[in-house]
Amino acid sequence: MAPLLSVENLNVSFVQNHQTLRAVRGISFSIETQKTLGIVGESGCGKSVTALSLMRLLPPSIAAVTAQRLLFDEIELSALPESEMRRVRGNRIAMVFQDPMTALNPLFTCGDQIAEAIVLHRNVRRAEAMARSVELLDNVGIAAPAVVAARYPHQLSGGMRQRVVIAMALACRPMLLIADEPTTALDVTVQAKIIDLLLGLQQELRMSMIMITHDLGIVSAMAHDVLVMYAGEVMENAAANTLFSNPLHPYTKSLLASIPTIERKQARLTVIPGEVPNPHELPSGCPFHPRCYARMERCRTQHPALYTPQTSHQVRCLLYE
Ligand code: SF4
Repeated sequence: MAPLLSVENLNVSFVQNHQTLRAVRGISFSIETQKTLGIVGESGCGKSVTALSLMRLLPPSIAAVTAQRLLFDEIELSALPESEMRRVRGNRIAMVFQDPMTALNPLFTCGDQIAEAIVLHRNVRRAEAMARSVELLDNVGIAAPAVVAARYPHQLSGGMRQRVVIAMALACRPMLLIADEPTTALDVTVQAKIIDLLLGLQQELRMSMIMITHDLGIVSAMAHDVLVMYAGEVMENAAANTLFSNPLHPYTKSLLASIPTIERKQARLTVIPGEVPNPHELPSGCPFHPRCYARMERCRTQHPALYTPQTSHQVRCLLYE
């Protein structure tokens, strides 16, 4: 079966102060129907820019997006006129952002905002859309959904607001949901509930998901396939069980070593030294070399290609050349 989404050689650049900043550099991936792709990496690795470029939400005045292919359900997204892209966005592909307050309008009730999304994409009357909003709030596990539909975002807790945003994203039963750090702003117990909710809704709606996160724990709970990004490039790409049982890239290994576990809490947590490089000042050679425990002399000058040392397992590291 053809993948639901196929991305080939996606590049995103921003021009700032006469300088070109390459935020995403030639990434490729695909997502099967009803599967979840986890995109992981630290902040500033290009994960969110990738998601925004798929949704065509980056203003062309500041961002240049190119791709050999952005094929979604047999539609080439990059060739769609904006009027048709609006019919895809929020309808067939929906997005949940990290901070629900930026996705919700403080001036309208939650019910109104969900109904708005339904009216925009479906040919239904306002009253019907409002009734559907209450149903959706019920589906995302909100007790007293009719009461919450009449509330404004500031009257809800962070976890409730994120549920409202999820209800809004699912209003039109999208084929693909892109969730960008959907639980980062929430406390741990609420995080677990939101993850369970997304998993349940994915089954029910038979949708595919892109889960963008810096948290490998969330990826291990949700993803079928994983893309590890660093400095705008794919560092490793594999099925989730392969990546967790047999990580190849030193960056992936370092990320895994920094996940707290009961055993590790008793010892010291591993921290990756240094910081994600500024896209204005990318290191020469391998972009990870200043932080890599396994770097060799040639890593300073030679940019690694994406190698395939094992079937369906890609890694950008000279150790696998
Ligand atoms: Fe480390 Fe060199 Fe591999 Fe880069 S290419 S990840 S610096 S070993």
